[in-house]
Amino acid sequence: METTILEQVTAARDAVDFSAFTSHDVFCALEKQTLTPVDLAALLSPAAAPYLEPMAQRAKVLTATHFGNSVGLYTPLYIANFCVNHCVYCGFNCKNQIHRGKLTEEEIDHELSAIAKTGLKEILLLTGESKSQSNVAYIGRAVEIAKEYFTAIGIEVYPMDVEEYAYLHEKGADFVSVYQETYDQTRYQEVHLAGPKRNFAYRFNAQERALQGGMRGVCGGALLGLGDFRRDAYAGALHMSLLQKRYPHAEVSFSVPRLRPYKNNADNSPNDVHEPQLLQIMLALRIYMPFAGINISTRERAGFRDHVIGLCATKISAGVKTGVGGHEEEAKGDEQFQISDPRSVSDIHAMLLQRGLQPVYTDYLYGT
Ligand code: SF4
Repeated sequence: METTILEQVTAARDAVDFSAFTSHDVFCALEKQTLTPVDLAALLSPAAAPYLEPMAQRAKVLTATHFGNSVGLYTPLYIANFCVNHCVYCGFNCKNQIHRGKLTEEEIDHELSAIAKTGLKEILLLTGESKSQSNVAYIGRAVEIAKEYFTAIGIEVYPMDVEEYAYLHEKGADFVSVYQETYDQTRYQEVHLAGPKRNFAYRFNAQERALQGGMRGVCGGALLGLGDFRRDAYAGALHMSLLQKRYPHAEVSFSVPRLRPYKNNADNSPNDVHEPQLLQIMLALRIYMPFAGINISTRERAGFRDHVIGLCATKISAGVKTGVGGHEEEAKGDEQFQISDPRSVSDIHAMLLQRGLQPVYTDYLYGT
């Protein structure tokens, strides 16, 4: 019987021994054109930590080879923050006493119109995970409105069935982001105390269902700091690379979020994932999957974002708000997490030009 992607990833995550790698393994991995999962593990291991500079040089060449000097820009729009899950690390969790809200169709239109005026052509629509408050028809309507202003529409909502993804794709969505948070199934249950999100396997297979529903691309990865970050980064990379092998036409990308403080929890820290560790992970991902997109979010401070863009990251958010709406009108609901980089689209645009990079607002044309 064929082993599933989930089984392969789980087995590899459990089996990897990061302490076994040496500098020799790291340099062998850096010499290769195509890396194996063992090479990836070497680059993620403590043995690679002193070699961020040669890793950065390799990553920069690969990024330039596959992406030139282009950098994609986008922004998220939270249209609702109701959530039925109890994820201990997130401001939207159902036990957190925050102001909840949901945009009407008219408010969605106003927000999208305001965002479009900044020049952005790519939008990521988000909700908390509440199928009753933000049902598929509501998300579909938001996608339809977004289609009037944007050329690329991503969604970051609750995991869905194939037919629901197909419905949203028909409405105009073409990209789905789902984060597994941690690939450690025991830890997963410890940080997801209640709600449908406790179903690890259903979430794990969401990207595959999205692609089966016709989506052009998917984004995934772990929320670093919840579990053993090396194992989680390794598992996330294998998850996405196995999906890429099964769906060669798909655009597969990574995001590498770290824990951030949120309302009523100022101590939500990324634990032992400091910037050098985060950089090591991002470089290893680039070297392992040279053609995969890597996003850098406003969870990171401006200086770090500027450093990794063009080096290994290929997409950057700008003008970000993590409350409900808040781009045109006052936010209608509280934030999911505190951002570290409040710069506007024009600020990020100017930063990219100053670094010799090309801000790209649209990189995909649809047939009529
Ligand atoms: S991480 Fe997602 S599912 Fe969990 S509480 Fe936050 S919005 Fe809800």
